[in-house]
Amino acid sequence: MCPFPPEIVPDWCSVLPPADTLAPDWLALPADANDLAAGVWPASASRDDDGTLVLAGIRSTDLVATYGTPLLVIDEQEVRARANFLRSAFDAAAAAHGTAARVYYAGKAFLCTAVARWVVEEGLAVDVCTRGELEVALAAGVAPSSIGFHGNNKSVSELERAVEVGVGTIIVDSAIEIERLAAITARTGAVQQVLVRVISGVHAETHEFLATAHEDQKFGFPLGEAAEAVARIREVPGLEFRGLHCHIGSQIFGVAGFRESASRVLELHAALLGDGPVPQLNLGGGFGIAYTSADDPTPIDELATGIVAAVADGCAARGIPVPSLSFEPGRAVIGTAGVTLYEVGTTKDVTVRSGATRRYVSVDGGMSDNARAALYGAEYSARLASRTGDGDAVLSRVVGKHCESGDVVVDHEYLPSDIAPGDLLAVPATGAYCAPLASNYNHVPRPPVVAVRDGRAAVIVRGESVDDLLSRDAGVDA
Ligand SMILES: *Cc1c(COP(=O)(O)O)cnc(C)c1O
Repeated sequence: MCPFPPEIVPDWCSVLPPADTLAPDWLALPADANDLAAGVWPASASRDDDGTLVLAGIRSTDLVATYGTPLLVIDEQEVRARANFLRSAFDAAAAAHGTAARVYYAGKAFLCTAVARWVVEEGLAVDVCTRGELEVALAAGVAPSSIGFHGNNKSVSELERAVEVGVGTIIVDSAIEIERLAAITARTGAVQQVLVRVISGVHAETHEFLATAHEDQKFGFPLGEAAEAVARIREVPGLEFRGLHCHIGSQIFGVAGFRESASRVLELHAALLGDGPVPQLNLGGGFGIAYTSADDPTPIDELATGIVAAVADGCAARGIPVPSLSFEPGRAVIGTAGVTLYEVGTTKDVTVRSGATRRYVSVDGGMSDNARAALYGAEYSARLASRTGDGDAVLSRVVGKHCESGDVVVDHEYLPSDIAPGDLLAVPATGAYCAPLASNYNHVPRPPVVAVRDGRAAVIVRGESVDDLLSRDAGVDA
């Protein structure tokens, strides 16, 4: 905010937002509202000489000419590079403490057969949490032994299917599930490896973590009740107890929450060693990414080093061996690889209070292809894609076309003042938790997902047509 009266405003004040602004504190007025902030966009993102956004060597305007808008573009090389970096970072961190690490891709972030294949080729295993996700992973050719199966309410038929195909690890979430698995393995003669999910009482998000004795949530066993569950599993001939699992949250930027959680879980882990082997420890996912240039997640290699060191310290303090470790990143693998392209339909300036205006930029998608702002108040950024813009940056809100005032895609962003109908707008960091949460609200067809690599594009998930929308409608004569 400029602290000076108008007649003596120093030069540098003109680059600060006006005093009466609707911009949140974290949003800085950009020096150039066309820049592609490092870390927010795929590494391949650039602008052509004419200003057009280029992704993996393909002009965004060409992508849209072929596939239309809205369009979710996934940069294959970005997914592969991040998967590979995660795997090698945790491998190296674990090796430094004489153990091994396995990285599972949390398929719920975005799963289709092509993506499952890429991450497996980069050395990752795959986590699923429903029959549907399991079938997609199997259809991609993921080895069943490389699949982890999560969920607080896996049905008997889901568990039967998982055991039948030979899923590597089932992460057990309730006493009822243990009995379901006992019955299934007794019937089939299979031996199923399981982890027991526990609630450490630590919940982490971005820069904070909350540590309580009891956590009021649906997943897992409270730490005080898990030993009983493990004892029961150890009695069941068809079940092999492998260790504990704990996932503490999402979009986490630092190590502290993991350290606190690991220390609590290791207390139980050490106690369980008294009655049998506990070869593994799974510390979940939740590693954060940058959605806007204000986000500063800890680099993955530092995170890996810090988390594994925390586990090793906890083990040394208790005089126990360091177990083999597993991690389950979703967002950190695919989030930054996705960019959504929209066409601008209308713009409108709204004066909210004296001197404070906001520009509403309406695009041809919205909460049906990206529910995260509406659902979680998530922040995103945006840039003109079909050209660079001129003029002062204007505080804008990118909204969708749905009949819902909460239909926001990008809540706060500075966009060039000449933005106009027909322009293409790109929203980065939409690779995770956008397509999987997509809906047909207002009968808006779900957009296609196109993978780009080395100047080539391919549809990896087909977009919906009006025929698709009507195909589920049983008709007026039903
Ligand atoms: C959601 C989830 C993950 C992945 O979370 P990200 O924030 O995408 O890394 C991992 N493990 C479990 C159990 C989850 O529920």
